[in-house]
Amino acid sequence: MKPKLAVFISLMVLFGQTKTVSFLSKNQTFLNFYKTSYVKWSSLLGRLWQSVPFSVGDLFYFLSIVFFLYLFYRFRLGWKSFLWLSLYVNLLFFVFYLFWGFNYFLPKLETYYKPQEIVLTDLHKTAESLLKECKELREAMPEDSLSLQEIDAHINQGLVFLPNNLPYKHRVFSASKASFFSTQLSYLGVLGYYNPFTFECQYNKKMPGVKWAHTLAHEFAHKLGYAPEDQANFIGYLLLEKSSDPRLVYSAKYKALKSVITLIYKENDPTYECYLGGFSLKMKSDYTKELAFEKKYANKVGDFQSVAYDAFLKGNNQNKGLESYNAFVYLLIAHQRAEKKGDLN
Ligand SMILES: [Zn+2]
Repeated sequence: MKPKLAVFISLMVLFGQTKTVSFLSKNQTFLNFYKTSYVKWSSLLGRLWQSVPFSVGDLFYFLSIVFFLYLFYRFRLGWKSFLWLSLYVNLLFFVFYLFWGFNYFLPKLETYYKPQEIVLTDLHKTAESLLKECKELREAMPEDSLSLQEIDAHINQGLVFLPNNLPYKHRVFSASKASFFSTQLSYLGVLGYYNPFTFECQYNKKMPGVKWAHTLAHEFAHKLGYAPEDQANFIGYLLLEKSSDPRLVYSAKYKALKSVITLIYKENDPTYECYLGGFSLKMKSDYTKELAFEKKYANKVGDFQSVAYDAFLKGNNQNKGLESYNAFVYLLIAHQRAEKKGDLN
């Protein structure tokens, strides 16, 4: 078969795949079947690459880059290069949705919590209580850091704290792995990512200490099956919130505090500065380290990546795009209300 014709057929298959995903994403019977199946294979396949000490997914990405560089060097922008590229995209698209991608279309957690309209006053109340808790935790906690294995162990144990009515609460084991591309990720502003092809959680080993626990918990939540970013942040928070180690609780609450302050700022309410000003000296030191990290790696690539990732999120049923990262605070407030009323089981 001529490469030109093969490219055409391959693109038609890709188009067919997008139409199939679009159709299935609206079919509730299929989504229920997918959810039940995901519990089984994420437990099973999730263990497959865990015993390998490095990221198998990163190795795959790295070899893919090398392969395509070679291909474009050898065939330039010829039909053969396009054929390989289109076959590769077809394969990734298929495996992505088979293994994980349909989780984007499961009912949102809002349907479980049925949050009432959350107003600015609620954000202020949450900011005040989080600030108070963060100050106390930061004073009480030890200064030394937990090891990666210890953080992972606490996160895995945190499954018991998830309410039973949530869609995913099954046993999946996660041992986070250092990314091959930590320096590059730092320039892109990425702290961690989940690889849906190998069920591995990767982290950026250059990130400041206060970000470790909540970042690893966020990636663990993706592995559990919570695909949207606000849900992963929320589940990550629940996994850490009741931990026996104050360092993990602090990491979760500190992250939630910064998110709620950002939401207050976005409401054009100037009082957000009062919360930042209320940070204790130790909290200010954590914040300064974060700013120094961001400043060290800030550049234009990060801006472009943000735009591209924002578009990806919006294309995958997350209408708020990058803003959805902070939106988990709304889920958190609704969860706390339900907890107070005794509506959770
Ligand atoms: Zn994420």
